[in-house]
Amino acid sequence: MTEDASIDEFVDRDAADATDADAADDDAVDERTADADASSDGTESGDGTESTVDERVASASPAASTSRFEPDGAACASCGEVVERLWLADGDDVCEACKPW
Ligand SMILES: [Zn+2]
Repeated sequence: MTEDASIDEFVDRDAADATDADAADDDAVDERTADADASSDGTESGDGTESTVDERVASASPAASTSRFEPDGAACASCGEVVERLWLADGDDVCEACKPW
């Protein structure tokens, strides 16, 4: 019976080691995810991803009045260009290019 007891001890130890390894892996994944978020934040100001950021902001705060979406398009109050997204600037709805950032 002592042999059975020693085997159980080894099994428990192996299980504990496996759990530790999993925890370490989870920590590494979390750090990698945080790094990925940070780097993506740095690239969000790039030209190619601005529309994606705008959509994310609009969906996160639909009550915000800084911009509105016109599916059929609307003319910019400043340059007259018809765009689907208008930004509120000094009471006028302007396109993204005319919005003073
Ligand atoms: Zn404009």
